[in-house]
Amino acid sequence: MFSDSAEKLKHVLQVKSEIMRAAREYLRSRGFVEILPVILSRVTDPLHHETYDGTVDYYGRPYTLTKSMILHKQIALRTAPRIFAFSPNVRMEPEERAPLRRYLAEFVQLDLEVRGASRDEVIEIGEGLFVAVMRSVRENCAAELAALGRELPVPETPFDRITYQEAVARFGEDYDDPLSSSLSAPAWLIDFPRAVREFYDREDPARPGVLLDMDLIYPEGYGEALSGGEREHTLPHILRRLKQDGIPPERFSAYLRFVEEGLPASAGFGIGIERLTRYVCNLGHIKEARLFPKVPGVADAL
Ligand code: AMP
Ligand code: MG
Repeated sequence: MFSDSAEKLKHVLQVKSEIMRAAREYLRSRGFVEILPVILSRVTDPLHHETYDGTVDYYGRPYTLTKSMILHKQIALRTAPRIFAFSPNVRMEPEERAPLRRYLAEFVQLDLEVRGASRDEVIEIGEGLFVAVMRSVRENCAAELAALGRELPVPETPFDRITYQEAVARFGEDYDDPLSSSLSAPAWLIDFPRAVREFYDREDPARPGVLLDMDLIYPEGYGEALSGGEREHTLPHILRRLKQDGIPPERFSAYLRFVEEGLPASAGFGIGIERLTRYVCNLGHIKEARLFPKVPGVADAL
């Protein structure tokens, strides 16, 4: 009755469901509280790369479909010390990104933030989360992994770390694919220069121009898994960074009101669930990792 692709999708969705269950269980065991996502945002992630915004007329004001919950996460930490959300993001990525096979216009991030944490502390949480998810999927989805032809490794911790500078020296500015293809286990890419990231990633006070941030890179050519870091949280630093990026502070006035009142220091990251599912299930294209996928530039989705 069903085609082969429907049978494959059934396995993928089962694995994805286990990924989300295991991630929730791990984070709850580490003292996190789950918050519900924000869909409509007066201010959202400015993102360093170009995307077309989804804008909604919200009682006469333009609101954006959330591109990431970064700014909301910082404010939420005033209420609870460790938070996470499965946050739907809409980023209408340029059509040229479609052939990279890891972009959707609508995807979900598991987005977490920890009050008072350093980069090393959230790196340790990221490694624990990754290993817990791999173990749970191997244990609870053995039949699905076999049907998908996937032998899923559980990596050793701590993961290797590579600096941005080393990656560029070895692989050039377009390091993503060659770096990922060269890896046999996930690795951290750290210390991005200020110019290539958003205003909220914290600059290292001891090394001006270098950020206390990181990406996790999948092995086997699957590319970037997550981005995160320590955050700027004081008004003078944030205003300076906005200025450097040429962003008028008025655009972020709704957020800056909270910064003026005081935001806690924090660190966190967001990991894309469809990319994680693609990696775990060994899928050729990210569109195979969810129902109703929206591929950049293709306007025929449900
Ligand atoms: P970012 O903060 O922009 O690096 O996004 C955090 C994570 O979300 C990335 O590391 C990816 O895993 C995932 N992600 C970002 N953009 C997309 C997209 N267009 N489609 C699918 N996943 C994405
Ligand atoms: Mg990123």
